[in-house]
Amino acid sequence: MRAEILSVGTELLLGQIVDTNAAYLARVLSDLGVSVYRRVTVGDNMDRLLAALRSALESSDLVITIGGLGPTMDDITRDGLALAFDDTLHLNDDIAEGLRKFFTKRGMPVLESNLRQAMVPTDGRAIENPNGTAPGLLFEKGGKVGIALPGPPNEFIPMVDNFVAPYLRRKTGNIGTIRSKVLRIAGVGESLVEEIVKDLMFDANPSVAPYAKVGEVHLRVTAKSDTVEEADALIEERAKLIYERLGSAIYAEGDDPIEKAVVKLLAERSETLSTAESCTGGLLSQRITDISGSSTVFMGGAVVYSNAAKTDLVGVPAEMIEAHGAVSAEVAQALAEGVRKRFGTTYGVGITGVAGPDGGTPQKPVGLVYISVASPDGCEVDEVNYIGGRATVRLRASQTALNMLRLRILKSKI
Ligand code: AMP
Ligand code: MG
Repeated sequence: MRAEILSVGTELLLGQIVDTNAAYLARVLSDLGVSVYRRVTVGDNMDRLLAALRSALESSDLVITIGGLGPTMDDITRDGLALAFDDTLHLNDDIAEGLRKFFTKRGMPVLESNLRQAMVPTDGRAIENPNGTAPGLLFEKGGKVGIALPGPPNEFIPMVDNFVAPYLRRKTGNIGTIRSKVLRIAGVGESLVEEIVKDLMFDANPSVAPYAKVGEVHLRVTAKSDTVEEADALIEERAKLIYERLGSAIYAEGDDPIEKAVVKLLAERSETLSTAESCTGGLLSQRITDISGSSTVFMGGAVVYSNAAKTDLVGVPAEMIEAHGAVSAEVAQALAEGVRKRFGTTYGVGITGVAGPDGGTPQKPVGLVYISVASPDGCEVDEVNYIGGRATVRLRASQTALNMLRLRILKSKI
């Protein structure tokens, strides 16, 4: 079954809200084995809505609209669908009565516009909305199906779960399932990841697709099959091959961020960590302490922004800063070693750099960051040059630090 998702609302086109409903629906449809061929967004405009609906019905069996079912002038989805399905709308007395009761109970007048929400298609029916006044609508004609759902997510999501999914399951019988798994990779760039798995990307089932994120790459492995077990088996087989090629560059599967992988590794080994951060201003310690359970491994951190703080709090020699500058490999190493000693931890991390947008020099440009990890095996320093604004440079620096730390823990003897 081919489906199209049509989101309706000028606020979506203006970028004022993000279309979380469409993303949710797309996931549910793919789990059901329904292929979403297109996702379209139109504003609250009848001509464009109608054109989009007609185009969707030409190429798909099912179109699901999101939004535009409210009582106001700009809520036109109901009328648009009636036109596109060549259907008429009539007042459903039960729904109208329910609306009257709803407003009267709250001491509000029942306006003509409110009753528009009781209009249902002649060749279709209303879909119950337990969390709002606008019911959804089902249009069925000539083998094509139209489903209209309201925009507020607290109304939309339960209607997808309680109506759309069971309805499609009944309608299509067993149409199989689409499952996927995400492998999260750090320390290898997108192009290189692609190079390594390129041959697998030509296969349609299971399919492999890379997604570049800040400082990491996600590989999504997707399989379509009759049963969940079969689909998962296809995914596992492919994932095994990817693990063989990328090895420890894969830090986790699914939704877990790298800081969680680091905390888990430290906890497994009963090892501890402390941080001394300059240009990241505590971002690294924030990310680590975002993970519940980090208190057993993270002993503390210092935001050593000024030269004096670097010297007074973690013991970076003033002469070293004088000789090499605060942004230098030497200072990064002294930060990592100093904080490790100060907190008495297994690992110490030091970060110093130029986050920008000001403060760069030809010798030390914006984006230059030194990151160091001190451990019982010694101390390593990385020099990196990031592009991007202040927030991106800081985020990338924290990301690199977490990955260096992760690899160092993996290499260390237990
Ligand atoms: P509507 O059903 O068009 O009156 O939309 C009502 C409210 O639902 C809007 O003001 C948005 O806050 C929210 N909304 C509408 N469409 C979406 C969407 N596609 N994703 C997330 N929220 C939405
Ligand atoms: Mg709207």
